[in-house]
Amino acid sequence: MTEDALADFPFRHSLHDRLGNHRSDADFVVARWADPGSRVLVLRGTDLAVTDDGARLAWIPPGQAPPGERLLLGGTGGSTHFAVLARGHDESRVEFDDIEVSVGTGDASRALHFAPLRQLAQLLPDVDASYAVHATSLAMWHQRHPRCSICGANTELVGAGDSRRCAECGTSHFPRTDPAVIMTVVDDAGRVLLGHNVAREDGWYSTLAGFVDPGETPEDAVAREVFEEVGVRVDRVTYLGSQPWPFPSSLMLGFEAHASSIAIEVDGLEITAARWFTRDELRAAVESSEVGLPTTVSIAGALITHWYGEDLPTNVLQT
Ligand SMILES: [Zn+2]
Repeated sequence: MTEDALADFPFRHSLHDRLGNHRSDADFVVARWADPGSRVLVLRGTDLAVTDDGARLAWIPPGQAPPGERLLLGGTGGSTHFAVLARGHDESRVEFDDIEVSVGTGDASRALHFAPLRQLAQLLPDVDASYAVHATSLAMWHQRHPRCSICGANTELVGAGDSRRCAECGTSHFPRTDPAVIMTVVDDAGRVLLGHNVAREDGWYSTLAGFVDPGETPEDAVAREVFEEVGVRVDRVTYLGSQPWPFPSSLMLGFEAHASSIAIEVDGLEITAARWFTRDELRAAVESSEVGLPTTVSIAGALITHWYGEDLPTNVLQT
């Protein structure tokens, strides 16, 4: 676990040992699966098995796990943790909503309850959040890569579940992560620039963000995205922290950028309004319900909080 400049938010730290040196050791994986002290998290599609109250992950012993693709997640407290991607009765890889997944047998059989990671993000204990974001990311990738991108044949899960291999041409495929930048923009007067995204409700303002282009550094992506979305030039870009965001496969890289120009010209497509705020102006706008800000679930809230210098004012438009 490492420290960075931002206040806390979900998925910020990977708290389990990912056992990377054991992933290719088939004997290790088999032995850990055979250990009744190991624990398994069942996924239905990308939804996670949860306790009846929906507040925690439902970890079960390997012996109770339903059939499905098996992924080694890692270890904590001397226990090895796996995920199982439950199959439907027709072994469909796409439609999961109607699958009833049961654990145990006979009278002891019970149906599992499932919930998406987004719903659980602020409920889970830190270690479970660490496993949950890992499991969701892997499940999302496996679900979306049933076929080889080279020849189109079916792919098969390999070993501990950290890759797939094409049964026809033998190409190995590894999970991908898409880097995205997310940034506050601050001018010489200490004001912050926030934008209104077309997809959000009226009054909702947040950081600007966008994907890193192929062959581009994150710092250059910050400068490009800010100019494309609001017409402002930036000359200094400081990295502050990151957040895995597996919806479906992003890694949000958080920055503060210094503006070298202040005239705003929104793109009108993604960003339909943008404003400079002093701290007093932002507090007054939020407290009067004129402006809503992102929740603390995402790094966006942490970046704005970092600029603001203390907890953000009460957010009545929060979604
Ligand atoms: Zn192939």
